Amino acid sequence: MTTPDIIIAIDGCSSTGKSSFAKILAKELGFLYLDSGALYRGVTLFAQENGLISKDNVVSADLEQALGRLELSFGADNRTFAGDRCIEKEIRAMGVSSQVSPIAAVPFVRRWVDERLHALAAGGRVIMDGRDIGTTVFPDAQVKIFMTARDDVRAQRRYDELVMKGENPVYEEVVENLRQRDYIDSHRETSPLSRAADAFILDNSDMTISEEVAWVKGLIKGKFALYDD
Ligand code: C5P
Repeated sequence: MTTPDIIIAIDGCSSTGKSSFAKILAKELGFLYLDSGALYRGVTLFAQENGLISKDNVVSADLEQALGRLELSFGADNRTFAGDRCIEKEIRAMGVSSQVSPIAAVPFVRRWVDERLHALAAGGRVIMDGRDIGTTVFPDAQVKIFMTARDDVRAQRRYDELVMKGENPVYEEVVENLRQRDYIDSHRETSPLSRAADAFILDNSDMTISEEVAWVKGLIKGKFALYDD
């Protein structure tokens, strides 16, 4: 039996718990997990380190050509690499979070990331999370999920995540960053964040990850022979 290409697309606002959920689901189902946001974060770090984005978020046109020398990939534990340098810690810090949405609104950046996502997903069974996976990157994905959670729950999750990573976040700044990213992500011209018409909504404000996994297994049960129970 040939292995079918199966794409599970998970989209939603910032800090709805997409990546934690996607990683666990990928492990349970034996899929490859691809974090599209990490690529936008990697491009942002690259632009910052090369002086290609100003403090007030003006992105230089030179970034387009410079991207020719950026190689982003994923290593063990889904850690993000630029060439052979692990950039996982840097791309999750507030410095990158505060400029990633303006970078992700630039059409040539979106094209660059989309090409990499297609190359990384080629021929496999993939779970990918982001903002436009089910609408633009893989509009034919077999399963589409749109994740939501209450604002206070999302802010607390993001705050806790930063503390766990050894940062010293200010709660109000975390709330403001989420608010700004949501706004820019859903109002940009190219591939704005929106729910695909055929996406299932998962509001996980009051759910544990195991409940979320059980929910999605119920959703895809019978669709593919992916697991025994
Ligand atoms: O998922 P994460 O919060 O790490 O994504 C960081 C940023 O990358 C988002 O706020 C958004 O601006 C951008 N992004 C995007 N499209 C995607 C994934 C992420 O525009 N598919």
